[in-house]
Amino acid sequence: MDKMGIMNGTLQSWLEKEIQGLKDAHLYKKPRILDSPAGGRVVMDGKEVINLSSNNYLGLANHPKVRQAALDAIERWGVGAGAVRWIGGTMKVHDELEERIAKFKKVESVLVFTGGFTANSGCIPAVLTKQDVVISDELNHASIIDGVRLSPAEYRKSEGWVYAHKDMDALEDCLKRAQERGFEKKMIITDGVFSMDGDIAPLPEIVALAEQYDAFVMVDDAHSSGVLGKNGAGTTSHFDLYGRVDIQLGTLSKALGVVGGYIAGSKELKEWLINRGRPYLFSTAHPPVVAAALIAALDVMENDPEPMNRLWDNTKKWKAMLAENGFDTMGSETPITPILFGDAKVAQEAERLLWEEGVYALSIVYPTVALGKARIRTMPSAAHTDEDLNDALQAFIRVRDKLGMTV
Ligand SMILES: *Cc1c(COP(=O)(O)O)cnc(C)c1O
Repeated sequence: MDKMGIMNGTLQSWLEKEIQGLKDAHLYKKPRILDSPAGGRVVMDGKEVINLSSNNYLGLANHPKVRQAALDAIERWGVGAGAVRWIGGTMKVHDELEERIAKFKKVESVLVFTGGFTANSGCIPAVLTKQDVVISDELNHASIIDGVRLSPAEYRKSEGWVYAHKDMDALEDCLKRAQERGFEKKMIITDGVFSMDGDIAPLPEIVALAEQYDAFVMVDDAHSSGVLGKNGAGTTSHFDLYGRVDIQLGTLSKALGVVGGYIAGSKELKEWLINRGRPYLFSTAHPPVVAAALIAALDVMENDPEPMNRLWDNTKKWKAMLAENGFDTMGSETPITPILFGDAKVAQEAERLLWEEGVYALSIVYPTVALGKARIRTMPSAAHTDEDLNDALQAFIRVRDKLGMTV
């Protein structure tokens, strides 16, 4: 018997069958291995490529000041916190990070979780009961959907609580029905920037509707943190909605370049999540080096406009270059730049050919996006040079020619 493998035959054959199913459906994932710091050009699977798939928007993942803060923190505190946050795992540096983020976001309080995903699964079920309803945009991120599923509130699409993407009439219809049903609390939840399309939620309209129908709003700013608003403070800042968004989620894993997620809101929200946010209660605190590196990353964001300026210069340049050459970037408004290929097989072949050309960018196909809307998702960053973007464009043009596409 192979002691390294699975003992139970039923489980083994089920796994084999399911994995084959994924392969047959072209949905099987196998990560490429990065062996250099994150950046515009990286070494992946032993090959130098232009990376257009990273969320390291500001280049902070390998910023000299952030690296140095991390090295200093290891010298001072070692590498582990040793416990969950409330059982002695909260170090001074964790506390300092939360205060720094709260100031940055202009909110009373912030609670950090180990990731954006866990911030969603910690916060959403904690603030909802079975007397409540969740009204959700149909393109919300998987971590929102999972967080909502963990809650006892009503949320199902089949019962009419998921509205068509950014459709404010549909949202208002949900709110009217929710009011008639007499739920105790009504929560509207939306991505700030949608991760597959790169478009921005109509937050001013959402907030106005929430106020009209006595609902509260939670916005997931994972892709807007470091990208939109003052110094990258997110969509609430971008739309100047200070004091009108009840719960803001941000990630520390994308533009901030390290790892983590946080919930920003009132003092009472933080108190409640310390007592009822399960990933906070039952999962070990970040290593102190994470908190220290994040404080340094915030320092850069608040004091050096250069990375964010370069991110947006590159974003505008990249979208313009693509448009001039007839590529369809699907109305995206942020660095997330989908390039439409339509058919799933064509997009997947484009991904393979791009890799051969030295460009790493992933295809996104059904069911992640609608049928016929298969795309290559690209993300320019502050770390890309003009040469990187030009080379990447030439690769896209050659790949399009090889695929025999007209435009
Ligand atoms: C990436 C992402 C998350 C998860 O954040 P992590 O810090 O990577 O766990 C949550 N929500 C949205 C919208 C995201 O894009």
